[in-house]
Parts: sequence; C-alpha cells; structure tokens
Amino acid sequence: MLKALVLLFLTWVCFLFYAGIALFTSGFLLTRLELTNHSNCQELPGKGPLVGGGRGEPGACWTAPRFSRAVVVLIDALRFDFVQPWPGGLPAPQPFLGRLGSIHRLLEAQPQHARLYRFLADPPTTTMQRLKALTTGSLPTFIDAGSNFASYAIEEDNLIAQLNNTGKRVVFMGDDTWEGLFPGAFSQAFFFPSFNVKDLHTVDNGILEHLYPTMDRDDWDLLIAHFLGVDHCGHKHGPHHPEMVKKLNQMDQMLQTLVERLDNDTLLVVAGDHGMTETGDHGGDSKPEVTAALFLYSPLPLFPKAPLEDPEVVPQVNLVPTLALLLGLPIPFGNIGEVMMDLFSGEGDAQPLATSLAQAFAYHLNAQQVSRFLHAYSLAAQDLPLEELQRLQNLFSSASSDYKRLLDQLKTDEVREADIQALISQLRLFLRGARTACTETWARFRPARMIGGTVLLTSTCLLCLVTSGLTSSPDFPFHSLLLRSVAWGLAGTTLLAGGLMAIGTKLELALLCAGGSASSLLAFLWALKSRGRPTMTAFLPGPLPILVLLFLRSAALFSDSFILAEAQVAPFLLRSLSLFLVARLQWEGRLLVGGPPTPCLSSPTASSTRREGPQALGLLMGLLLCVRLSSLFHRCPEETPMCQSSPWLAPLASVTGGQVKNLWYGACLGALGVLVLSVRFWLRRCGNLNSPAPPVLFVRWGLPLMALGTAAHWALSSGSAEAPPRLQALVSGAVAGLPRAVLGLAAVGLGLLLWQPVTVLVKTGANSPSPIVVPFVGPPASQADLDYVVPQIYRRMQAALRGKLAGDGGQTPLALAAYGLGSVYSAAVVTVLALLAFPLLLLHTERISLAFLILFLQSFLLLQLLATAVGTPARSPGPFSVPWLAISAWALTATQTFYSTGHQPVFPAIHWNAAFVGFPEGHGSSPVLPALLVGANTFASHLLFSVGCPLLLLWPFVCEGQCSMKKKSLASGAEVEVEKEEEPLMEMRLRDAPHHFNTALLQLGLKYLFILGVQVLACVLAASILRRHLMVWKVFAPKFIFEAVGFGVSSLALLLGLALVMWVDRAVGSWFKQLILSQER
Ligand SMILES: [Zn+2]
Repeated sequence: MLKALVLLFLTWVCFLFYAGIALFTSGFLLTRLELTNHSNCQELPGKGPLVGGGRGEPGACWTAPRFSRAVVVLIDALRFDFVQPWPGGLPAPQPFLGRLGSIHRLLEAQPQHARLYRFLADPPTTTMQRLKALTTGSLPTFIDAGSNFASYAIEEDNLIAQLNNTGKRVVFMGDDTWEGLFPGAFSQAFFFPSFNVKDLHTVDNGILEHLYPTMDRDDWDLLIAHFLGVDHCGHKHGPHHPEMVKKLNQMDQMLQTLVERLDNDTLLVVAGDHGMTETGDHGGDSKPEVTAALFLYSPLPLFPKAPLEDPEVVPQVNLVPTLALLLGLPIPFGNIGEVMMDLFSGEGDAQPLATSLAQAFAYHLNAQQVSRFLHAYSLAAQDLPLEELQRLQNLFSSASSDYKRLLDQLKTDEVREADIQALISQLRLFLRGARTACTETWARFRPARMIGGTVLLTSTCLLCLVTSGLTSSPDFPFHSLLLRSVAWGLAGTTLLAGGLMAIGTKLELALLCAGGSASSLLAFLWALKSRGRPTMTAFLPGPLPILVLLFLRSAALFSDSFILAEAQVAPFLLRSLSLFLVARLQWEGRLLVGGPPTPCLSSPTASSTRREGPQALGLLMGLLLCVRLSSLFHRCPEETPMCQSSPWLAPLASVTGGQVKNLWYGACLGALGVLVLSVRFWLRRCGNLNSPAPPVLFVRWGLPLMALGTAAHWALSSGSAEAPPRLQALVSGAVAGLPRAVLGLAAVGLGLLLWQPVTVLVKTGANSPSPIVVPFVGPPASQADLDYVVPQIYRRMQAALRGKLAGDGGQTPLALAAYGLGSVYSAAVVTVLALLAFPLLLLHTERISLAFLILFLQSFLLLQLLATAVGTPARSPGPFSVPWLAISAWALTATQTFYSTGHQPVFPAIHWNAAFVGFPEGHGSSPVLPALLVGANTFASHLLFSVGCPLLLLWPFVCEGQCSMKKKSLASGAEVEVEKEEEPLMEMRLRDAPHHFNTALLQLGLKYLFILGVQVLACVLAASILRRHLMVWKVFAPKFIFEAVGFGVSSLALLLGLALVMWVDRAVGSWFKQLILSQER
C-alpha cells in the first residue's frame, strides 16, 4: 500500500467527519448578525412630522411618556396557565393551574386597569436568550455574530441602555445573569446566584428582603425584580409537585403586597420569560414552553374598554417598543416587535377618533424604526431573503404615503375613522411580515439537518472502527475502495447540486459536502458488506476496560456538572488507566517475579525480567505525580463560585513585589532550560545529535536561541513598565519583535528538518570495507530490492558497531557505523514537537511554561510506561499495531492538558491576550491573524498531542534500543553469543516490513480519529437531546463548539504528524540508496 494512499484515505475520513459536523452545526447553531447602532432621542427613525408627540416637552423623546415609572416583575418560567383564572369558579384539575389569585381579583374588579395576555416567547426558550429579547426586542440566537465573546454583555441597543442614556435610574434585584448582561448599568443592584437549580429560595427571599423598602423610596425610574424560584422548582420537581403550589402562593402574596404600594404614575408589568414542559424543562419550541404569562396593571385606567373573553396573544418582543414609548424612550434600534395597540389610547375618556390617531401614530413610529433596522441589517448581512425584503419595502412605502395623506387631510377637513383603521392594519401587516421574515431566518432549529449530521458522524465513527480492524489483512483493497468511494461522492454531490438548483434552492456548502460524504460513505460500506460479514466483536475497540472508559467519558458529556468538572474527570480517568496498566502487569505476573519474556527485555532470564517491576512502578509514581502537579494550573468555570482559579495563570507583570516576581521568573527560566536540555539529552542518548546535518545543528544552537528569545521577551514584557523612559521605544520594539523572531526561528528549524530529515551520523572505518553482501548485482533496481537490502545493511552496521564496542575490531572489520538510525523517525517527531512548543509557549502567560514542562515530562513517562506495559509487537516482522489502551491514554492526556494550561470550553475563558503577543499595538482590521493566534493558544494541547501521535507507534521500538543498551552494560562474556542474534533493529524493524509500517500508520490514524470522533459525537448527541436543558446555551453548545473545532485542529495535526513520519521514511529510503551506491564504487 502506498504511503500517499494512507494519507488520502485518512483525509477522506476526516472530510466525512467535517461534513457531519458542518451539517449538524447548520441545523443546531442559530446565527444572526448583531448590529451596534443605537437609537437616540434627537434623531427620529424616519422622515415625517410628528402629531400628538411631545417633542420639546421636558423629558420627552420621540413621544411624551405616559408613565414616569415602571415596576417589572419577572417570574422565571411563569407559564400562562399558572396565572389564567379557571373559568366558572370550578376547582382547577391541577393544583398549580390558575394560582395567582391577586391577579384574578384585579382583572375582575378593575377591568380597565388590568389585563392578562398570552406572552409568546421565541425559541430558544432559555433565560439568557429571553432576557436579551425582552430588552432588545430582537430574536437572540446562540451565536449573535459580532458580539464580544469575552463577556455576555449586551452590546446591541436595548431598553436599559436607553434608560441610562436619558438619565433614568434602574434598580435591579434577582438573577445574577443580569450582571453579566448589563455590567454597570444599574444605579442599585442586588444580585443573587442563579446557577444552583436545586436552590428554590435564595434568590426569591433575597428579592423580598429588598423589594418593599425600594418600592417606598423614590430614587428609581425602573425597578426590575427577577424571581427564579418557580423555574428552579420546575427543574427540580416539575410543575406537579406540591412545592410548585407553595412557590406560586408565595408569588401571589408578593404581588398582592406590591399592588397595594403602587403609585398612580407607575406601570406594573408581571411577566414570565418562558414557560415549561410537563416535566419542568424549557429551551425548545413546544407550546407549554413558549406560552408565558404577561399581566399589565396601573392604578389609573389603562385601557379604553374591558378585555375580551379570551386573552390576546402577544409576542414577547412586543413588550419592548410598548414599554419604550410608554416611558418616553426611543425604541431600541434592533427591535422587531410591534407596539401593543390597547395601551395607546388617548388619555382617559378620549374620543374614538383621537384614540385611533394616537394608535396610528405609535404604529407609524414603530414601522419607521423597523424599516430602518431592516435596511441597516440587510446592508450588513445577506441572510434575509431578498424578495421578502423587497415586498416589505413596498408595503412600508405605500403605508407611509397613506400616513402622509392622512396628516394632510387632518389639517383641512374631517378624517374618517375607517381610513385610520385601514392604515393601522397596513402598518401592522408590515410589522408582522418583518418579524416573520426574521424569525424564519434566525430562530429555528432544523431537526432534519441535526439528525443527518448525527447519522453521518455515527457512521463515520463505525467506518473508522471497522476499517482499523480490517487493515491488518494484507490484501485489503484500499486503493479501489477509496477510488470508488470518492467517485460516488463526487457523483452524489453533482446530483444533489443539480437537484437543488432544479427546485431553486440556494446551494449551501454544508449541504453539498454532507450529500457527497453520505454517498461516498454508502459506496464504501456497500463494498465492505459485499466482501462478507465478519463478526462484530472483532471490531470492538479493545478490551472491556477501554470500552468502559470510552463509555464513561462519553456519558460524562451528557451532564452539565460533569462538563464543568471535566478538568478533574480527565486526570481521574487517566490515573485509573495507568493504575490499570500496572495492575495488569501484576496479573500477568510480570510485575515482581519472573514471568513470560517481555518484548522489551527479550532475554527470558529471571534477572532481567524482574527489573521491569520497579521500573514500571517508578514510571507510574512519576506519572501520578505529574498529573497531580499539572492540576495546579487549573482555571475555574464561571458557574462554580466555590472554585478558586489558580493565581499562577496571571501574567508575571501583574505580580507585585520584586522578590516574588524574580523568583517566579527564575522558575520559568528553569523550565525553559530543562525543556531544551532534556530534548537535547534525549536526542544525544539516541545518537541523533552527532551528525553535522543542518537540523542537528539547529537543535544544538537554534533551540537554546529560541529559549533565550522567549526568556528575553518575558523579562521585557513583565517589566516594561519599569523601564527608563529613554529605553521605552527600544523595549516596546523588542516586545513586538522577539516573539516574531522565535516564530521565525521555529519556521527555519522546521524547514531544515523537512529538507534533511535524516539525522544520522555515518562513520566509515579506516580499513577498506568489504562490500555489503547484496544478492543483486548492481544498484537496487526496484523498491523491493531496496526493502530487502536495507535491514541487511543495518544489521551489518550493528555488527560492526558491536564489534568495536566489544573490543574485537580485528575480527570484524569496521565498515560502517550509523549513529541514530534506530530512532530516526522519533527524533524527527520530537524535534518538531520542541520546535512547536516554543511559539505556543510564548502565546501563554509565563508561568504556564511550568505546565508545559510537566506536560512534556508526563507524556514521556506515559510513553515509557505504555512501552513497558504493552510492549513491542512480536519480534517477527509485523503486523504492528498500537493498542486501544495507548491511544485512549494519549487522548485523555490531551484533554487533561487542555485544562491544565488554563483553558475552559466556554467563550469568556478564552485567552484573548494571545492575539497581542508580537502585536502589542493590535492588528488593524484583519481578523485572520488574531484568530490564528488565539486559536493556537486555545488548541495548543490538541496540536502537540496530535502531531506527537505517531510516537505511540514508534516508542516501543526506541525503548527496545534503550533496553538492549542497558543490557549490554550488564552483559557478561557468556551472554555475548546470545546477543548476537538479538540485534536491536529498533525503528528499522518498521522499514523491514514496509507494508506493515503503512498499515500501522493507517490504523493509528483511524483509531485516534475514532476516539476523537466519539467525543464529538457524544457532544452532538448531548446538545441535540438536551436542547431544552437549562444549560444548553451556557454549557453544552459551547462544549460542542470547542470539541468540534478541537477535532478539526487535531485531525489536521494528526495528518501532518503522519505525513512527517512518511516524509522521513522517504528520506531514509533515498539515504540508503545513496549509501549502497557509494559502497558499489
Ligand atoms: Zn428562565
């Protein structure tokens, strides 16, 4: 099997994964562009004169305020039927129905003062999204592109901002989500923690303590109280529980007291942000979730006539323009809601005509604002359908000219009531059309796509599993299978594109890729099936413990608490896995007493076998210690207030006290030094630091230089404030230049390594060497010749070397010695890892370098332990395979490192400062470079571990060399004979069997992709099954995004790592060819 084919096959598998993720994302992640335009008092939303408005009156903006103050009582998850009076005085069939008696009494006693509505929330019905909608009047989606990911703060125009702009004072009490959404916006605020759903009373009791005293004061214009008890009771017990009745009674009592204290100029708004299902959940779009209650009341008459029998349905966003105009504020720029007509009657017992005119005026102002928003939005984003926009535009123009005509008529003669009503219905048609267009574009899950994406991901995981099992059979026809699949995929894409164009749908990349992937996957699976059906158990990923581990790991992604605690879960699983490894050694009797021969120490003598126990135990201890130490750099998720983030994540510049700072700086320098020295030490020990090849020279001189650059950068950036003024320019220049220099050096090193990847020193002996015994005359003609010859040369070199070591150089003439040939692949991989580590290190804060050191040490120990415990494959040439256990441990270490370098899978936890490393002045307008820098910082662990993945295959071979080296020093004269037959071929054993080498690389890639793919799949399933969960947009969706992007980074890095090994292999091949040619002469 060709090497290129292996890479192509893996690339195809990655593409299948990407297509599945893209399809799921396009159905799950709702997106919308966020505009930062704000409305203001001075500027009306459109042309045209004002009637009935109060411009020029004190405190008035677009209109005169009808109320000077308002109290908004938000009862989280207040479903409509919790409030609706049960008809005819009958007892309600469920105790929680129609529980708010104070509202019933007001509705009956003062029909013109009070009204109850069905308050229709748009999905996603999660609290944060609803709060955004209730203040901006828009339809927040999960990704409001353009918003600041570093915080949840609302940057769009909203009611609270408008109140602040006009100098009104807002007092808030309740759910602390508001603190993140509106930082610093309240004149007085009492926040209470919202995260603990089990806690029904802290927030509510906290509010009740402050509510009445605040009501009695007059230092506020808007009072917001957000109660959480009903919602938490739903999540904990569901609505049917007796606790719910108690909670609703408490709310009823509160409203009763509140109404008694209400002033005449104050409007009371009681609303639920969403409803709940029969099990108490919310987040989706079912009727009980979207139907909340809205109740309006004022001590003065509010409505011209008594309410209808059945309460009117009011979309949630409609409250925003209504409240804005009632309080005399401009309507927020991005509002797409429609004013509530009833509330815009003339004062008191006004004439019908005046009422209609006031309503037409409010509607027209509202329509102008929405039209202005649609115009601005469609200029910035293209996602709204064009024909619909055009239709709405025409509708608005005609309504506007009608409105103007009406105003002209008003000056001269009588206006007919019917004309005004016609105009109102026209404006209303426009407003509803606009809202529908936005809803359809922004706020709808597409279940078909979500299911399609999940199915595609599942089947690709299966494909990885099955194929990794089948690769070991040598006659497996990858070539034809791959060709057939790709051909089918292309055909499928073309067909789909044709079909979509025929029905006039827009071509979407995600859809096309998914179509192509599905058809190529089907073709592949069909071909597999026609080859006969092997038993499924043959393909199970490894032994039972691995299955349990994989299951636990995936199941943990279904729980928000476990995702928040993943930083502890991953190390725990890793510790368990390494303990299992050592325990298994004990079961197999290899830990303490002599047992069957181990592959690493191949001599079955008791003296050498016994040594494995202490070594394995030592490695285990070291590994456990490293795992423990790395948790010192943990960062806490925001949702766990008890947890304390490590203070070591802060940059050194923030450390006060020169002594402490210097100590820390010294420690970081130490970490750098140890990192460089250990890489060099390892390479020297393997013999890869001897040759004069350019990459070797680079490791000798370039790596220390990179460390020096890093150290200088840290010193300057952490102490730049203390530099004398005349050196400031120099220092800031160096702060910008040094990281770029280190990156440049890394690039140079990488280039050199790719140019000459064979870091082997060849020594020719003084005596004229006898020619190598080649069974073929002349230089090797074909690849097969070469493959046959290479091990022979290698053995010969080994023999010559050993002859020299044993001091009997006379008997075996020293022909050739190649140092470092046995570890030539892993030397290249380790060098690349070291080259990558320094730029990545610079993107983190200084003290993370200690975490990086621990990470390198830990992976080294893990590799050693795996090599000891799992052992090398049989001494026969192939097939080689990396056990599932090793791959699972590697993937777990990658996850653990993500957390132990101070990351968390939520947007506010991203290290945004990384974008300014090397660019202290910022980047101008292009977002590509900062995104790359921040991405490299966030996914550093994914990158390093995936590039280093081939080490899992190579390390046992390297270990073989170390073992034999150790043994050699122990060997007595009697054992020399035995050793002669056991030359450590090390990594050359892989070259010995090129077919098995390729297969092993393919299998390694497939297995790693499977493990990563299962993690993504678990996140996908969790996000779609739990899309009604309280935490979906706060925990599950961000976790899915991080996991999906991490998969992308990991898979690309994996392909690069494998390609690197293949590249080195190619170079080794041509190196041998040259060697043989030179021997021929
Ligand atoms: Zn809520």
